Amino acid sequence: MLAELQKSPSLYATTKDNVVVLARMSADAQRLVVCAALAEGKSFEAEFNEASLTALKPADFGWDRFFEELQGSFNSGRVSSTSGAFVEITSSNGSKFQFSLEQTSEDIQRVILNSLLNYHHIHTHSKEIEKQLEEAGKQEQEVRMQAADLEREEVSLKESIARNKEQEDVNQRRLAELNGQLAAAEDKKRKSGAADVEEEDEELTTCRCRIPLGEKDCKDVDAELLKLVKGRWTDGATEADSIYNSVARPYTSSELTAQTSSFSSAQRQAIWQALEKIDDWDYDVFNVQSQMSGDDNASLAIQANGGSLLVTGFALMFRHGLMQKFKIDERILLNWLTVVEAGYHGNPYHNSMHAADVLHITHYILSKGGLAKKCKLTDEDMFGALFAAIIHDYDHPGINNSFHVKTQTYLATLYNDRSVLENRHVSSVFELMKLSKFNVLSAFTDDQRRDIRDTVIEMVLSTDMGLHAKIVNQFKRRLQENHDFTKKDDIRLALSMAVKMADISNCGRPEHIYLKWSGKIADEFYMQGDRERNLGLPCSPFMDRSQPAMAKGQIAFMNYIVVPLFECISEFLPDMHFSVDHTEQNKAYWNKNDDS
Ligand code: AMP
Ligand code: ZN
Repeated sequence: MLAELQKSPSLYATTKDNVVVLARMSADAQRLVVCAALAEGKSFEAEFNEASLTALKPADFGWDRFFEELQGSFNSGRVSSTSGAFVEITSSNGSKFQFSLEQTSEDIQRVILNSLLNYHHIHTHSKEIEKQLEEAGKQEQEVRMQAADLEREEVSLKESIARNKEQEDVNQRRLAELNGQLAAAEDKKRKSGAADVEEEDEELTTCRCRIPLGEKDCKDVDAELLKLVKGRWTDGATEADSIYNSVARPYTSSELTAQTSSFSSAQRQAIWQALEKIDDWDYDVFNVQSQMSGDDNASLAIQANGGSLLVTGFALMFRHGLMQKFKIDERILLNWLTVVEAGYHGNPYHNSMHAADVLHITHYILSKGGLAKKCKLTDEDMFGALFAAIIHDYDHPGINNSFHVKTQTYLATLYNDRSVLENRHVSSVFELMKLSKFNVLSAFTDDQRRDIRDTVIEMVLSTDMGLHAKIVNQFKRRLQENHDFTKKDDIRLALSMAVKMADISNCGRPEHIYLKWSGKIADEFYMQGDRERNLGLPCSPFMDRSQPAMAKGQIAFMNYIVVPLFECISEFLPDMHFSVDHTEQNKAYWNKNDDS
């Protein structure tokens, strides 16, 4: 048998069904190897030794006849196959013998081509075979890349499921909490006398919106932590006898030295350190949030002691001397900050961390960016600007204006399809402030209140991306006249540009911060896409999770929106020009990591 096998070392045929079949000698020249490759990529193979071939060979065939018939049937197309699993040879006298093969993960197409290349009878076609081999290699590479992509998608879907699960648990707990509050309120109403009920109703009817803290005035803030926050900008002694109603009396110098040389908790130490960067471009709200709440994602909704918005808001109000200057009742400021923070939803992107981030960058543009100096901002302007940044996405539901308009939600009808969410953000905070405990403007005069309210309304409404081109063009035209932006209208236009820049500043932040935000906005976009699909609507651009195109979306957003806006602001505030370079660097990331 071996002598005959070695005479016909390699046979090749293609069946009518396009199965490629190869019969060849094994590497040790002891067995016959039969392989089959199906057009769609499945491969089969088996090795036959003398014993197994004896069982298969017709009894009246000698080995010479057997191998002769084998060769004859390969050369004259008498080879057939059943799905690659069986290869059947028909001999010259019509008798058939069948090789039973096993499916294999090895790429037999490649094995066959390699094997063919090694034998003289295909030398004339070697170029073609080499091309096929090269093609097969490319296909293999492509399939491997597709498999890797699918694996990555699977991982991200699993992560997303896990996050949604965590969020669901948080929501369930919050729902239970709200149901408890509702039951307690109804119980109280039932038990209390008619006079009490009337009195309470009068207070409640002054505010016609949901009060995120329920019956509470404020979250359980850590007064020691707030003292440390103040300690960043006082030397202690001068602030100790503060004249405004302070909850967290600043430490004296010696108390502050004692506290900061040996912190009473790791959290306080971490916040103290994080605040060192509040004047810098790389201040990190994710870090502040996770120090306050344990992590920067799932606990957004519960954060019983406040999160990054409370810390950043409180710090900046104090840092700019606004609590002191306007003698703002600190208890009311804390009530207001915590109720606003609680009113942000646990969305992947439009949450209270985003508000804290926009607040911090607004502060940066005003101070290091030079806007406050250039526009000669008053303390009222400063207060209005920080206030606007803090509330600018309050109560955001995680779906955009266009979704509201096309599905004709209650809010779209209420605001006549115009800046639906932005109107909602401002009006619900001012509605909340009808309750005295949240009225952070109570310390101001009527004129100051009017002025601050106008600034806030104009700034928040300007964050509607539907008005982007209009506002940017207005600013550009104004800039062409001159750079004197000290009149009220110009100040408000410049402040609107500042909050608009802060709102999309994630694209110009250090890469590790930017990538977190871009991942979060993609998550939120996909959630809107899911809702659109469920309603039978086409998914909005870049919101279809089954067709991810992050690189394309991010590069387009940076090219058409972010860079032109940053450049325009840099013309007015040259110290902001570095943000364009940062954005270019983040864009380069997507050029290197294209997912589409
Ligand atoms: P706002 O909804 O107020 O936060 O407005 C800013 C809008 O800019 C967001 O709603 C997004 O549509 C868009 N945006 C901000 N950052 C990004 C980003 N990294 N990629 C794509 N769109 C963004
Ligand atoms: Zn925003």
